[in-house]
Amino acid sequence: MDLTYSEPHRALQAEIRELARTHGHLSPKQGGGRRRPDARTLAWQRLLVERGYVGRTIPREYGGHGAQPDVLEAAIIADELARAGLYPGIMSQGISMLVPTLLEVGSEEQRRRWIGPTLRGEIIWCQGYSEPGAGSDLASIRTRAVVDDGHFVVNGQKIWTSSAHYADMMFLLCRTEPDRPKHAGLSYLLVSMSTPGIEVRPLVTMTGRAEFNEVFFTDVRVPVDQIVLGRGDGWHVANLTLKHERLMLGDPSKLVHRVERIAELMARAGVDGERSIDRPELRDRLLRLQAEVLASRCHHLRLLTQRARGEDPGLAQTIVKYFGTTLGHRLSALAVDVLGAGGLAYEPRGEAAEDDEATTWQIDYMYDVGLMIGGGTSQIQKNIIAERGLGLPREPRAAPGRS
Ligand SMILES: Cc1cc2nc3c(=O)[nH]c(=O)nc-3n(C[C@H](O)[C@H](O)[C@H](O)COP(=O)(O)OP(=O)(O)OC[C@H]3O[C@@H](n4cnc5c(N)ncnc54)[C@H](O)[C@@H]3O)c2cc1C
Repeated sequence: MDLTYSEPHRALQAEIRELARTHGHLSPKQGGGRRRPDARTLAWQRLLVERGYVGRTIPREYGGHGAQPDVLEAAIIADELARAGLYPGIMSQGISMLVPTLLEVGSEEQRRRWIGPTLRGEIIWCQGYSEPGAGSDLASIRTRAVVDDGHFVVNGQKIWTSSAHYADMMFLLCRTEPDRPKHAGLSYLLVSMSTPGIEVRPLVTMTGRAEFNEVFFTDVRVPVDQIVLGRGDGWHVANLTLKHERLMLGDPSKLVHRVERIAELMARAGVDGERSIDRPELRDRLLRLQAEVLASRCHHLRLLTQRARGEDPGLAQTIVKYFGTTLGHRLSALAVDVLGAGGLAYEPRGEAAEDDEATTWQIDYMYDVGLMIGGGTSQIQKNIIAERGLGLPREPRAAPGRS
């Protein structure tokens, strides 16, 4: 990992600082990512895509910037946008999870059709994996699809589907080959959420907001060419998407910004005139977390370097989700503690409400619990680290019929 800035790197740094000076006022506020992007966010996203600060390495023919992977460029973009307090771009399931999956295994037609508008935030995707009775044991899903007259006809139910209440499209895992062993019987379909027969029922979480949903399918017709790879390849495709999901959820870039926000909060005098940064136990927590975020960031850069060289990071990659989401929750817990009584008084507000500082931290604190569950729980991540990463013996499985 070479961290020296070359002339082109310094030029990129200067370019982003110039953007901050000339266009910074157009940036949407940080946060608010768990709702449909508004006009301001979409305009900012377009600007970031045009300049190559989002989708930098995605080929131009698919709507990206076509640059070669460069670890330092990625780090400079993240750092400079964070330093200027600019919105770093939409972090959606479409951009972070589906786009890299299509780049790996999508057809040429699928890449040309879906990647550009997804990058620009014009198409919002949701992930239709989990079902009642199939979460950690995802391969047990029962939503069925049968082929009829050039279409898959889908029947079944999904649950915990984030963003489905405002998404345009879903990447759906369903069972198309019921006679094959369970992992080999799945397919991965791209489904328009406006297809007749789809019913979305929002679920309210402990934040008081509807963030995920139940989704019911009754004879939903999906053109057969909207399958990614072939029938029975769904488990393979779903796992590629999950790999990207886990890297996104554990990405330390947003944690760096979070540490800075907490440090600012702690340096301000509270209602009692005291500063939390002067309290040794709180300062100690901040410094420990800051060190862990820094370590996580270096680890992230090392992974980027390995991937840019075409190497498989193996075990190193399996720790990202567990470590990053746990760290995120500990950071928001510190902020809530620093806020004192203000961190306790939470009143659920409407989806469209502009959140004040305390509410933003409280929502993060509650939502971060979900991030330790979604995309594979912390317990499942530990199993993966132990069994696939470290090669430890597999944990005993429950006997059939007794789970
Ligand atoms: C905020 C949030 C957003 C989500 N968004 C989506 C989404 O957009 N799309 C989607 O499809 N799903 C989504 N999910 C669902 C998520 O993927 C599942 O909740 C998760 O995979 C766990 O499945 P489950 O809820 O069925 O729990 P279960 O699998 O029933 O697990 C229950 C408990 O048992 C533990 N456990 C299970 N098996 C083992 C084992 N082998 N070893 C040790 N412990 C085990 C788990 O860790 C957990 O603590 C979301 C969840 C959350 C919280």
